[in-house]
Amino acid sequence: MPGLEDLYQELILDHYRNRRGEGHLDDPTVEVDQNNPLCGDVIHMEFKIEDGKVADVAHTGEGCSISRASASMLAEGLPGCTVEEAFDRVERFRQMMHGEEIDDEDLGDAIALQGVAKFPARIKCALLSWTATNEALLTYQSDARSNGDGH
Ligand code: ZN
Repeated sequence: MPGLEDLYQELILDHYRNRRGEGHLDDPTVEVDQNNPLCGDVIHMEFKIEDGKVADVAHTGEGCSISRASASMLAEGLPGCTVEEAFDRVERFRQMMHGEEIDDEDLGDAIALQGVAKFPARIKCALLSWTATNEALLTYQSDARSNGDGH
């Protein structure tokens, strides 16, 4: 019987090969770029945020299987989250990368990356898209504040 680690490997490979959310959005609310010079991973992420909710996420980039699979897992789970829930999800993923125990249901397929916490050189690969998301959410919030109520 395959163990949990094998199952997680399969999930990572599946997301790497069939990336969810890869591409561009028509009219993104926020766009961010991040890179991880340690590995050479680069990512461009686009977010559509409407009524305080993440409506859609798209990403393009190049890099190792961990960074690309992680972006796919993130993009699959984020749409439908409120901005606060999205911040929370990013925070929990960070905690998982620092070796903390996380409730499976909170992160969807991204839970499969928990083993990466054991490989410090790869943690930045896994975190890249999540760091980009955090930056995008902060940009969205500060834009929303400076635009007041939009009038
Ligand atoms: Zn990498």
